[in-house]
Amino acid sequence: MDLKEKIRVIPDFPEKGIRFKDITTLLKDGDAFKYTIDQFQKELQNKDFDLVIGPESRGFIVGTPLAYAMNKGFIPVRKPGKLPSETIRSEYKLEYGSDVLEIHKDAIKPGQKVVIADDLLATGGTILSTIKLVEDLGGEVVGIVFLIELTYLNGRELLKNYDVRSLIQY
Ligand code: IMP
Repeated sequence: MDLKEKIRVIPDFPEKGIRFKDITTLLKDGDAFKYTIDQFQKELQNKDFDLVIGPESRGFIVGTPLAYAMNKGFIPVRKPGKLPSETIRSEYKLEYGSDVLEIHKDAIKPGQKVVIADDLLATGGTILSTIKLVEDLGGEVVGIVFLIELTYLNGRELLKNYDVRSLIQY
């Protein structure tokens, strides 16, 4: 299946000059959504890991079905003030702006192996920040999967010490 065909590109959103990759057109197509999660599973089939980590909010959309399909737990990484128990935080720069992410302190036990899942790799800032949270808790990032990679922003360079997979590239 050509997943790229299912993505809608919106010019000048959320700011002038950004060509926003809209995945809602893929998500509403049941076959395409299932195929996406199946492809993630294929990328991860030989990996030994305990948890899937998904950053808010589109990381939840791709991360939870992946965790369910592979019989793993799911850990949300969230914007500040959303998680109810004790958290740790890290700050990151976005393609447009900057933000803070948090994770529950007891989400990951030292030595646990995790896979991070998100919709899109742009500069890599979001995921580097997510990696930092995982590693601060003593977890090991054994793989990172994206639906979309914007290769011209070179986020892969920032994540060069990790096993990064993407299903669609622009
Ligand atoms: P990064 O931190 O620069 O890699 O930005 C990645 C994050 O920004 C992802 O979590 C995306 O949800 C979001 N993002 C950036 N550009 C786009 C886009 O064109 N379409 C959808 N999401 C985007």
